[in-house]
Amino acid sequence: MAQLSDDCFAFGGALMSVEDAQALIAARVPAATGEDIVPLAAARGRVLARDLVAPIPLPPFFNAAVDGWAFRHSDLDAGAPTRLRETGRVPAGHAAALPVGGQEALRVFTGAPMPPGTDTCVMQEDVQRDGDTVLVPPGLKRGANARPAGEDVALGSTALAAGRVLGPAEIGLAAALGQARLAVRPLPRVGVFSTGDELAPPGAPLRAAQTHDSNRFTLLAMLAGLPCVASDLGILPDDAVRTAAALAEAARDHDLLLTSGGVSTGEEDHVRAAIEAGGSLVFWRLAVKPGRPAAMGVLPKAGGDFRAGGTPVVGLPGNPVAAVVCFLHLARPLLLRLAGAADRPLPRYGAVAGFDYRKKAGRREYVRVTLRTEGGATRAEKFPREGAGLLSSLTQSDGFAELPEEVTRVAPGDAVTVLPFAGML
Ligand code: AMP
Ligand code: MG
Repeated sequence: MAQLSDDCFAFGGALMSVEDAQALIAARVPAATGEDIVPLAAARGRVLARDLVAPIPLPPFFNAAVDGWAFRHSDLDAGAPTRLRETGRVPAGHAAALPVGGQEALRVFTGAPMPPGTDTCVMQEDVQRDGDTVLVPPGLKRGANARPAGEDVALGSTALAAGRVLGPAEIGLAAALGQARLAVRPLPRVGVFSTGDELAPPGAPLRAAQTHDSNRFTLLAMLAGLPCVASDLGILPDDAVRTAAALAEAARDHDLLLTSGGVSTGEEDHVRAAIEAGGSLVFWRLAVKPGRPAAMGVLPKAGGDFRAGGTPVVGLPGNPVAAVVCFLHLARPLLLRLAGAADRPLPRYGAVAGFDYRKKAGRREYVRVTLRTEGGATRAEKFPREGAGLLSSLTQSDGFAELPEEVTRVAPGDAVTVLPFAGML
């Protein structure tokens, strides 16, 4: 598994921009090495370790794209219907033994090999049949309704590049190329902690001054869609010694640790200190709203010795919406690198702002918006409230409008970039 040493980041000063944080991650986090060979049925969500070079073309042979008749295009009259005589039949899965002669056609079915000599098909819906003849209308182009070998994937081309996260489409393509197994990267082990004396797990009754822990479950649910094996490491109390001990221990058998809460400036915030005590802090505080208190660091993997490599730790903010924002922009790219995955930028779409909003320059903001399509344009309306603790804002809106650092005002009608929650949250 990838290893991180303590000198692989430079401490970036006060507030780090999202872009700089991501550049650090891309430059310094070593991509996964090693391979597991898995059957195709177990490959979903894994990261391809080697380029898949097409050992066969797709389709493998020239074949009919319709149920109909195959013939030589040169036999057709360009301006009038042409009568051809049916001389045989080729179902899918059967080789066409008969070559076709002049003014002849062979009955073919979708996926059947094109009989030798033929180059074009007509759909059965488009002909008039009369005994053993068919009347083919004029106007068909040479090659119509037929699929050349390799039109989908050429023999020897790179069908899937190493680093690709395998989803249903990739798995289908690998199957079509005859691969029963694939070489994939080992999955990084990700441990998730919540922190806070006020937290009670869901299922437990709330005592006075308690609130249910939600971040751990949001984070584990987001991790379920990423290439990793996530483990739930529970809730840490607001206690410096116990936080440091728990993080140090978890660093030994995980490849990434995520915490939420306890990373602000208060004296009850112990995550940053625990990273500094046991390892090294890479940066603290991100120029993003919601999400400012976020920390990233490295803890030694084995017994305080960095030469054995390090485990990155991302200290996410406690407020649930801030935790989600920082997860998406810090933890996700870091995890994808550890997993050996190629960069997968979050999907972004253009929309038109339906709101007026002012912000400070120098930090990026993610504003929750609902989306509505109107006259061909997507209009983004701001969710009426802004609190970083408003979990229901995520279920009642459709995405984040991404307002760049330099922007200070968004006016109705302005173009905005939106990161939709679909597929992300
Ligand atoms: P903190 O950064 O620890 O001061 O937490 C900021 C806010 O987020 C506080 O209101 C916490 O109660 C809340 N919070 C922290 N962790 C969680 C969590 N795991 N689930 C829900 N809320 C949390
Ligand atoms: Mg706290």
